[in-house]
Amino acid sequence: CGKWSRAMGILKEFEEKCETPIEKLKQVADAMAVEMHAGLASEGGSKLKMLISYVDNLPTGDEKGVFYALDLGGTNFRVLRVQLGGKEERVARKEFVEVSIPPHLMTGSSEALFGFIAEALAKFVEEEGDGFHPVSGRQRELGFTFSFPVKQTSIASGTLIKWTKGFNIEDAVGEDVVAEITKAMEKIGLDMRVAALVNDTIGTLAGGRYNNDNVIAAVILGTGTNAAYVERAHAIPKWQGLLPQSGEMVINMEWGNFRSSHLPLTEYDHALDLESLNPGEQIFEKIISGMYLGEIVRRVLCRMAEEAAFFGDVVPPKLKIPFILRTPDMSAMHHDTSPDLKVIGSKLNDILEVSNSPLPMRKIIFELCNIVATRGARLSAAGIYGIIRKLGRDTPKDGDNQKSVIAVDGGLFEHYTKFRNTLESTLKELLGDEIAENFVIELSNDGSGIGAALLAASHSQYL
Ligand code: ADP
Ligand code: MG
Repeated sequence: CGKWSRAMGILKEFEEKCETPIEKLKQVADAMAVEMHAGLASEGGSKLKMLISYVDNLPTGDEKGVFYALDLGGTNFRVLRVQLGGKEERVARKEFVEVSIPPHLMTGSSEALFGFIAEALAKFVEEEGDGFHPVSGRQRELGFTFSFPVKQTSIASGTLIKWTKGFNIEDAVGEDVVAEITKAMEKIGLDMRVAALVNDTIGTLAGGRYNNDNVIAAVILGTGTNAAYVERAHAIPKWQGLLPQSGEMVINMEWGNFRSSHLPLTEYDHALDLESLNPGEQIFEKIISGMYLGEIVRRVLCRMAEEAAFFGDVVPPKLKIPFILRTPDMSAMHHDTSPDLKVIGSKLNDILEVSNSPLPMRKIIFELCNIVATRGARLSAAGIYGIIRKLGRDTPKDGDNQKSVIAVDGGLFEHYTKFRNTLESTLKELLGDEIAENFVIELSNDGSGIGAALLAASHSQYL
């Protein structure tokens, strides 16, 4: 039947444009390392902001006390309180709640968003149970994980550079986000001090290091994507201050904004970018992260519907709605192991109201998911390899087989098994078998919340 072969033609052309042979991945990794150098050399020297986090010491295990954390950076935010008991008791106790952010607050005013968050925090504080209080007379202290690009001015202050991931609140750009949340807390009489401002990558790095001394970098693969790593302070020419005693500084790469002529971009990616809230920005993020993978699939399906009558004579109206096909749905289709691909059939029915989906159609959709996920996973691995190269850990050192751990968090990595497996096997391929032995990719589930609380503890006013 003609329509399947026409759709196959579109699929094959897309597949070719998405190809990521190992040589290309190495070029991407090299470009990443070059941009890392440039971003460290001077302010505005690169698409990679390479932001200084003011975290020059990662958790040691000695942290003690009750601390709060607030994690904002996607569709949900979480508040948690932890009781840290030092080396013996570790995280003795932990409680959290998750609250979804009403969509209108994602594009409204700063006051409305932070007011909503402060309210949720106050409610959570009120529910503080027995033996889960800070020492009496002391102010509660908070680690604030705010996962958007921020120019830090100290460990507990920083101005918002721009929004990403579907947020767009103009009056907050350029403002100190700690001042904003503090204002909102004061307004409702919540007495709490932000002791550390971090993002999810820094939090994950801190939480990862708390559990494992070999953690050198953290990567987020969730709604968005980003990475952070530990850099030698003297390798940061743009750093003007005194060199930290530790000799190290954690760098927030903001790698979602990476772009390079080596990235395999297609016409679908360009169109997605142009129609996004932030055209021209976050190009790496737009081909890798959970917010966009399903949307790329939808766009290719649209083309097949329009030009190959893939779904019959009419284009399914639902298919024209941006972001209707979410990455978790794509993932479910991609993991369909039934011989007749019935998960794909039911997703098509439920999401696109396509009730008749013959097997050839389902197979093409399966393959499409595979292409988009494989490209994203392999490019993520290339990004990680770029960090490893920047740190000079990609070559064997005499008599040294030091272990390196990359802590990874985010719903995409956690739940999209094929994505994760491809990422891991590609990193091995890039490193080579021998050196790959020294690397571990570790799921750091909710490292970021605990990490922020740990950093609040190590920056407490009561130390
Ligand atoms: P955030 O990045 O918003 O802080 P998470 O780390 O929980 O939150 O990641 C959520 C994202 O992970 C979702 O937006 C989605 O893109 C992706 N995701 C969640 N579940 C799945 C799944 N089952 N398969 C693929 N992707 C998923
Ligand atoms: Mg998150």
